[in-house]
Amino acid sequence: MIYESPFDAVHLPECSVWDKIWSNPNKVSDDADAVIDGPTGRKFSRAQLRDNAQRFAHGLRNAAGLSAGDVICLFSPNTLYYHMIVIASQCAGVIFSGANAAYQPAELKHQLSDSSAQLLLVHPSVVETALAATQQMGWTERQQTERIVLAVRDDEAGPAGQALSVSLYKAKRFKTLDFLLSDHKMAPHPVSDVRNTVAYLGYSSGTSGAAKGVQTSCYNMTSVLSILEPLKTYEKDVQLAVLPLNHIYGLTKLVHWPILRGNPVVVMPKFDLVQLCTLIERYRCTFLMLVPPIALQLARDPRVSKYDLSSMRVIISGAAPLGPELERELAERMPGCQVSQAYGLTESSPTTHVAMTPRRGSIGPLLPMMKARIVVPDTGKDAEAGAEGELWMAGPNIMLGYLNRPQANKETLVEEQGTIWLRTGDIARVEDGQKGWFFITDRLKELIKVKGFQVPPAELEATLLECPYVADCAVIGVWNEDQATEYPRAYVVLSDGGKKERDAPAAINKWMEKKVAHYKQLKGGIKLVESIPKSPSGKLLRRILRDEAKAEAEAA
Ligand code: AMP
Repeated sequence: MIYESPFDAVHLPECSVWDKIWSNPNKVSDDADAVIDGPTGRKFSRAQLRDNAQRFAHGLRNAAGLSAGDVICLFSPNTLYYHMIVIASQCAGVIFSGANAAYQPAELKHQLSDSSAQLLLVHPSVVETALAATQQMGWTERQQTERIVLAVRDDEAGPAGQALSVSLYKAKRFKTLDFLLSDHKMAPHPVSDVRNTVAYLGYSSGTSGAAKGVQTSCYNMTSVLSILEPLKTYEKDVQLAVLPLNHIYGLTKLVHWPILRGNPVVVMPKFDLVQLCTLIERYRCTFLMLVPPIALQLARDPRVSKYDLSSMRVIISGAAPLGPELERELAERMPGCQVSQAYGLTESSPTTHVAMTPRRGSIGPLLPMMKARIVVPDTGKDAEAGAEGELWMAGPNIMLGYLNRPQANKETLVEEQGTIWLRTGDIARVEDGQKGWFFITDRLKELIKVKGFQVPPAELEATLLECPYVADCAVIGVWNEDQATEYPRAYVVLSDGGKKERDAPAAINKWMEKKVAHYKQLKGGIKLVESIPKSPSGKLLRRILRDEAKAEAEAA
């Protein structure tokens, strides 16, 4: 059966992302707030955001010498400037690739070299990582000076607070945003082939392997913004951006969508429960997208009751599974606020489902213009109505494909009778028929999601195999009820060097700290084993380890 959306069709414009986001249907005033830096209260009005983005776009094309189709990478936590940089890329016709600010050098290096980014915009707090990554890529000091720009203004680039270390500051090697903020405004770059023009390169491991560049077209982004229409917002809505804006979830729903809808967005640099509650209270926020571990803290932490969160109207959880009990608990703690779930993937730009009215444990029905199938993995045939199977989806927001990965594209995008289906690697079932409600019940793909962040086990295994204490290994995700998240667990066969260590797991953990981001650390534990289960052809049998871990957890 082909499942359909219960919502009416919406118009999908064939225009640039820039034209779409400024086509605000509510005709909100230019003086209205667009972006507010939560902790400091500094802000941009809509006019300031648009003007600065056009000046910045001019700088990208002229001062930085970029051409349409070139790639810029922004390596930064959420800041006041994030929106301006992202939308300037769309004004200039360059491709935007956001890197997670928690990355270690090897992870950033992978994204920079895979995407062939020409310009790297870096927040001062992570500039050391950027220098190490680009040095490993063979950039000379001169190239670093030319191609790295600090993603703050001149007067913020000093060694104060969390910014640059004194020695780096004294070396004065970096330009800042001022270098790119031209006196001239660029007229928005006209995009002639919106369906095939790449606008963003996010990174996702997809169903297997390492992180790959997801080519999101202009049309993908404008379409997802259009199909989100049933998720109504009002002029008085104020969004809070706690999710990282580099991830497609934040990029779409917290960068582009509020500009389109004319809603101010309050930006916070990273999640902290007290700061989150303080900002909701201070700015009377109404709309919050979050991930299950944040839902857990909001639902259970006693500190929350000290704050007036009565302005909240809508909370939507996505990026990872949220159990029906926790969803209900959060709803009970936030009377008057609708709590529900959404679902999507980087590969679908991302949102495909939103539960507009809550149905506990469900990701909702399909958004307009989307189609889905539930496919039995072993046979490739459609599952019986109501039965579980792999979720396949088609629609205008499905990516163009992974950058330079023909094999992965063949495995992930299946063309049948002119329709391109995205294999999600998630197991789902549908209740209430062809236009019904979807439930994600399991994951077929290897991916581990830690607090909504992607952790590809293959990447951790490759990293662990470089560790001198490790002879062989396998990584799986294990569920942690107390944190409402999965964590990666490694099964490790020690090398001779590892066997000599008094506390080999501690030594391995220490080694990993410098290699991968904090959310990829092995918080699910390290189990020392004699051998790793493998098929006769040498393929890792993670399923056996997953079943063992599940049985262990049930027995505990
Ligand atoms: P990403 O590409 O990082 O957005 O990750 C996409 C994956 O996150 C999906 O394939 C799912 O495995 C998972 N995911 C996203 N939203 C949900 C949700 N509401 N419930 C369960 N899993 C989710």
